[in-house]
Amino acid sequence: MNTFAFVTRKDEHSAALAEQIRQRLTAAGYTETDSPETVFVIGGDGTFLYAVHQYLEQLEHVTFYGLHTGTLGFCTDYRESDLEEFLQVFLDGKTEEVRLPLLESISASGRTYAVNEIRIENAARTQVMEIYINGEKFETYRGTGMCVCTQLGSTAYNRSLRGAVLAEGLPVIELCEISGIHHSRYRSLGSPLVLKNTAEIEFRAESFRGALLGSDNDVLSMDDIQRVTVRMSPGRSVRVRRGRRISYFERLKTLF
Ligand code: NAP
Ligand code: MN
Repeated sequence: MNTFAFVTRKDEHSAALAEQIRQRLTAAGYTETDSPETVFVIGGDGTFLYAVHQYLEQLEHVTFYGLHTGTLGFCTDYRESDLEEFLQVFLDGKTEEVRLPLLESISASGRTYAVNEIRIENAARTQVMEIYINGEKFETYRGTGMCVCTQLGSTAYNRSLRGAVLAEGLPVIELCEISGIHHSRYRSLGSPLVLKNTAEIEFRAESFRGALLGSDNDVLSMDDIQRVTVRMSPGRSVRVRRGRRISYFERLKTLF
């Protein structure tokens, strides 16, 4: 069964491209369904994140194949000017499957997953929290929040926080402060910390009232939570179709 679906950015241009792709796939005998083998992602990196979250419960059954409208993305290998190649490589079965790791958070509210980052952010008041790494107390932190990102997510929010960009292929995660307050009473590292991807980071607070737990584009209230553990998910990952290899530095150059 050759089945597909679309996740398309909400602009006319992306919609028109999706329509073109739909016609070509249909003519080649493919069927559009709600439980597809391939999800065509037409838009930006934000669209890719949205697509993964939409299919979170079916990740083992779908692969994502992306066309970036605009600049070159971190989650996709093709721009719209490459539409012909994008389609031909797919129809010829010449794409290769790669897996992207997911971060996961575990708390009393359940589990969340993220491609880019999981963050705790409190815009309502100063957040105090204890940070444990692999069960060992690391620091007491005070500030707006903390961000844990994947290698892929290092160029997203993490980069705005002055976290290090992590080159493709590094099996690590990065912990970065969001406006940490540093003075004699509360001591925290202050600089980004890169850890092995096997690390487990636990955040504990007397109260997270007012804070949000963000997982890419999803957020949930932390009002009823006192602990959250963040780690690479041992169970879930994202299957992505790649048709060609783009140099990481070529992607990086699109950011500035
Ligand atoms: P969005 O508008 O879809 O994404 C925000 C911007 O981040 C877009 O320009 C997007 O690129 C870019 N982006 C996403 N993932 C990236 C990656 N891995 N590397 C480089 N750039 C990336 O906003 P949203 O729907 O809220 O998406 C949530 C994401 O936005 C979060 O995962 C977070 O990383 C990012 N974010 C950033 C900040 C910040 O930098 N201050 C604040 C909040 C959230 P496209 O234009 O290609 O879609
Ligand atoms: Mn976007």
